[in-house]
Amino acid sequence: MDAVSGRTFENRNPADTREVVGTFAESGPEDVQRAVAAARDAFPRWRAVAAPKRGEILFRAAEILVKRKEEISRDMTREMGKVLAETRGDVQEAIDMTYYMAGEGRRQFGQTTPSELPDKFQMSVRMPVGVAGLITPWNFPMAIPSWKMMPALVLGNTVVIKPATDTPLSVVNLVKVLEEAGLPAGVVNMVTGGGAEVGEPLMRHQDVGVVSFTGSTGVGRKVSEACAPAFKHCHLEMGGKNIIMVMDDARLDLAVDGAVWGGFGTTGQRCTAASRIAVHKKVYPEFAARFVERTKALRVGNGLEPGIDMGPCINESQRRTVEKYVEIAKGERAKLLCGGHRLEGGAWTHGFFHEPTIFGDCSPAMRISREEVFGPVVAVIPVDSLEEAIEVGNSVEYGLSASIYTQDINKAFTAMREMYTGIFYVNAPTIGAETHLPFGGTKNTGNGHREACVQALEVFGEWKSIYIDYSGHLQRAQIDTGE
Ligand code: NAD
Repeated sequence: MDAVSGRTFENRNPADTREVVGTFAESGPEDVQRAVAAARDAFPRWRAVAAPKRGEILFRAAEILVKRKEEISRDMTREMGKVLAETRGDVQEAIDMTYYMAGEGRRQFGQTTPSELPDKFQMSVRMPVGVAGLITPWNFPMAIPSWKMMPALVLGNTVVIKPATDTPLSVVNLVKVLEEAGLPAGVVNMVTGGGAEVGEPLMRHQDVGVVSFTGSTGVGRKVSEACAPAFKHCHLEMGGKNIIMVMDDARLDLAVDGAVWGGFGTTGQRCTAASRIAVHKKVYPEFAARFVERTKALRVGNGLEPGIDMGPCINESQRRTVEKYVEIAKGERAKLLCGGHRLEGGAWTHGFFHEPTIFGDCSPAMRISREEVFGPVVAVIPVDSLEEAIEVGNSVEYGLSASIYTQDINKAFTAMREMYTGIFYVNAPTIGAETHLPFGGTKNTGNGHREACVQALEVFGEWKSIYIDYSGHLQRAQIDTGE
């Protein structure tokens, strides 16, 4: 949809800023008004469509995504920078979620329970909230929008989505697929523009019944405050400072594989990135040496080129944040083990590249061990025991993901119980969630909701409990129970 103002903005490739990926409407508050009005008008018709039919439209969308996977993945690497194998994974996650929620068209299970009174029937059913306002980040340009859109749609909500300004193309692609699959006009509406110009009016709009936000904890707090006065449903997925714990009995080859993938996959720009690694002192020297060797061998470049392991930062501002944290860590006397510089010249000249960077001998109190960098920087923290690793792990403000490498089942189960995170892995890194288990975090990572799986339906629905009395006379609950 064009902006009322007629204004547009360009989106450029972070690996090569000479390439314009697309031109998009620079929407403003008046466009939000139009989009919400369209969603509100479409809502009564969409909720009246039988849920299995809504599911069938999603199923067709998933089938189209499967066919277009390669083309859409390439678009995503051009707009977001992560390597093609990872953008294929991002699109696959959208496919998985779309199939999963298509199935919910025929489930959406409620409850029936016996009544305490004779000749009375009771059940609970889900109902949609109305218009869902979705605000998404740039690091999973299609997966995250699909995590929100598909459960919202299958329940009968209509949607207004505002993607991050760095990655609108993937959501344009997703919306086109839904339209092609037969989604009626007005059911999904997209506004492309900045947080202040579009995100703010969307989350404050009185006709938006539920806001689902994924992004930084700072902006999430604003969303929460904006939703509070009207008691608007508000779902927040925010930052992380995830830890891998490597015990002295761990298989180090496996742990190093996990650290490299968890720390530098998506250029460290994952909410679940393994940005801290607590390593038992007995194996610390060997682990650190192997981790550094593998990291130095990573090939950084344009994610569309074969053989590239790690792409650029999303934009210059994110790269500056990485540089800022490198300086902070040096100032804190963390030991720079490798990396630490932006990459310039040659194939890197026109992109926002930065070396994969490891700091060693970090203490848990250092900012590099506590704050989310959201870039290719990992802090390695030596520890004496499992207990200390768990204490370090739980000591930060976030609670998204954690993992342990050990061959000892007792240690694995202890860590599984003690880590206060929404996601936990054993002998795998902190990344790798699948769509059919709940996704989200504790503390400053989330506000108690979960995405994915059936839990996602809770965000976009309300429960209605229904009592049907066929006794033909007044029966009073808790009173006429025959005692
Ligand atoms: P961000 O908070 O800057 O932006 C997220 C979205 O909010 C964007 O669409 C942005 O335009 C919008 N926005 C910005 N200011 C706004 C305002 N005042 N009102 C309304 N909307 C506003 O985050 P980002 O840089 O896009 O993404 C990185 C962050 O997202 C990291 O902190 C990362 O951990 C987090 N993240 C979390 C998860 C999760 O599931 N927990 C997943 C991915 C990313």
